[in-house]
Formats: sequence, C-alpha cells, structure tokens
Amino acid sequence: MPFSVSNRLSALPPYPFVELDRMKREAMERGVDIINLGIGDPDQPTPDIIIDALTEAAHNPANHQYPLGSGLTDFRREVADYYERQHAVSLNADKEAGALIGSKEGIAHLPLAFINPGDVVLFPDPGYPVYQSATLFAGGIPVAMPLLKENDFLPDLDAIPQDVLQRTRLMFLNYPNNPTAALATMEFFEKVVRMAKQYGFIVAHDAAYLDIVFGAKKALSFLSVPGASDVGIELHSLSKTFNMTGWRIGFAAGHPDLVSGLMAVKANIDSGVFNAVQRASIAALRNYDKLFPSIVSVYEGRVKVLAEGIRSLGWTDFTTPQATFYVWVRNRGNRSSLEMTRTLIEECGIVTTPGTAFGPSGEGYFRIALTTNEDRLREACKRMENAGL
Ligand SMILES: *Cc1c(COP(=O)(O)O)cnc(C)c1O
Repeated sequence: MPFSVSNRLSALPPYPFVELDRMKREAMERGVDIINLGIGDPDQPTPDIIIDALTEAAHNPANHQYPLGSGLTDFRREVADYYERQHAVSLNADKEAGALIGSKEGIAHLPLAFINPGDVVLFPDPGYPVYQSATLFAGGIPVAMPLLKENDFLPDLDAIPQDVLQRTRLMFLNYPNNPTAALATMEFFEKVVRMAKQYGFIVAHDAAYLDIVFGAKKALSFLSVPGASDVGIELHSLSKTFNMTGWRIGFAAGHPDLVSGLMAVKANIDSGVFNAVQRASIAALRNYDKLFPSIVSVYEGRVKVLAEGIRSLGWTDFTTPQATFYVWVRNRGNRSSLEMTRTLIEECGIVTTPGTAFGPSGEGYFRIALTTNEDRLREACKRMENAGL
C-alpha cells in the first residue's frame, strides 16, 4: 500500500541538492580526489577536557535517568555565567535559560510554541533552511527578508511592508551569519528592538556562530542590546564553538515567557539532553578561555590561506570573513550559482554550496566552508588555477 506524506511535509520547498549530490557521486565513482568545502561541520575533534568530563559523567548512575525538563540547574547556571563573562548579559538561570538538543531543535520548535495559523514569520534569505520549514510546520506564513551586499547582508527593515509587519509574530535573525559571514551592528539590532516593540513581535536570534569571531573583535549577543530581553530569545549552541556537532547540545536564553513556551513544547516532544552531555558541556563552557583560542585560530589561518589564494586568481568580489567559517563568494563570468558549483566539481573536484541552496537571494554566489586543512585549501586554489578559473 503506498503512503503519501502530510500536506505539512509536502509544502516544504524541494531539496536543492539533488543534482549536486549526483555530480559529487559521479566524480567519486570516477576516482576523483574530492576536496569537500561544502558542509558546515567542523573537522577538528572535540577537545579532550570535554571528552574526559563526558566519560566521568557517563559512569555516574545519577546521570542515567531522564534529564530534567529545561536542563540541569548546574548547566543553566554555567550558561548564565558564560553570558555574563562573554557578553555582559545577566540571566536568571532558573527562568531565562534552558538546554536544547542543539540550536536547530530550538529553532524548529519555537514556532510551534508561538505561531498560530496565518501569523507571519520573517526570515533571512539567504539563510538556514530550518526557519522556513519550522514556520510551515506551525502553519505560519514565512516571508523572506533579502540579505543583500549593498546593505552589508543585513535585512532592509524599512522595506518590509506595513501590512506584513502588522501580521508579524516572529522574526528570525542570525549573526554572525551563515552563509554570508556578515556581523550585525548595534544600530541594526537597536532598530530591530524598536520595531519588535512597536509591532509586538518576537525576535529569535540564531547565535550558532556567536563565538567564532577573529582577532580582538566580538560579535554582539542580541540580548546585550538595550531592551532586547523584552522581546528576544537567543538560540545558541556548543556545536560550532567546541567542535561538538555530533553531541547535540545547545541552549535557549532570553525572555522568560519565550524560554518557558519553548520548553513546554519540548516537554511534549523530547525528554531533554543526556545529563552526561550536559555535564561535559559545563566543562566546555567553564574552560572556554583555555579551549577556544586554539579552535578559532585554526579558522583564522584557513581564512587567510583561502582568501589570499582565490584573490590572487582574480576572485575579488567577496569580503574576507571576520567571523564564522564560511566565505561567501560572488561568481565570476555571469554563471548561475548552480553552474558555478557544477564547474568546480567537474573541473576541479571541489565541492562547494550554491548560494541558491540558502534561498533565492543567494543566486550569483557560492559558499566555501573552511572545514578542511590549509594544505587542502592550497590544493583547491591550485586546481582552480590549473582549470583557468
Ligand atoms: C549549524 C547551524 C545551526 C545548528 O546547530 P546545532 O548543531 O543544531 O546547534 C543553527 N543555525 C545555523 C545558522 C547553523 O549554521
């Protein structure tokens, strides 16, 4: 008997990678040595301090039972300490912080807690696809906010029509941004807070790359903006900061009603994060200053190699990233995103992501993920040079 999926699931936009996956498979079957700059998943291992803390916690039977709803008190306190130390944000660990099974889980469940059918949800284009799918699952109406180079990849808030703003219940933002690597300014965030108050919408800031910033610079936590805690929730993660994507842990922080609404949805769907993983994450956050500089300096080195490498080949229409591990490059020679990505696979054995995979405003761009070592990045540049790119 054949079964078809729900209207909810079939309403999602089609999977954009079908043709690329086929090309990648074909290249691999031909025996091509593929350089994968496609996936945004750190290649470095999780630091030993964190693994050791997990091992110890896993041996403690107290950690074997169901986790508490919004996470261990110790974990939430550690999250509050992190915000205080790194971002000068004071949180009430009991009411304003909760554990997530990765920030993706929080993003996916937030609309179920706050969106009624017909409510508008604003989301960045290009952007992480989950904002849109989560909105559709909740019966909301996703409305794209284009991120354009002429606006430094910040949405043009004045371009959002009044009638859309009046129906808006939630705005997703993500800075440092995937895929453009842009950073938000205080001025931009302040304007978001003003508008959220005026129109009564929630701001959900995806902070997955909040820590991945180079040099002395710091990225702004949305919660550090005056008035943001009245309207906002931040969804953060240990995944990218500590090379822990497989561990599945993140956290929500912000307005107590927003945190508790999200936690109420979760209570009906999942049963939280394995306590031993929460204990290991406490060790990670506590050792931030010891662990993090060497993690971020790896990306800083790679950015330099790749940016100098492609610039010397004449690829100049991109900004050297100050944050994240992505380079968002404008195609040369009027190629579409898909054509560019196809050429890189077929002529150079290099996998990248077409800008359109992140939304229509990504047309004309491709994303390079710096999740492979400097030698391979140099090799990638050499192959591009040999192919006359
Ligand atoms: C990686 C990523 C996430 C999800 O990370 P988790 O592993 O679920 O914490 C969320 N948003 C963006 C923009 C990402 O790139």
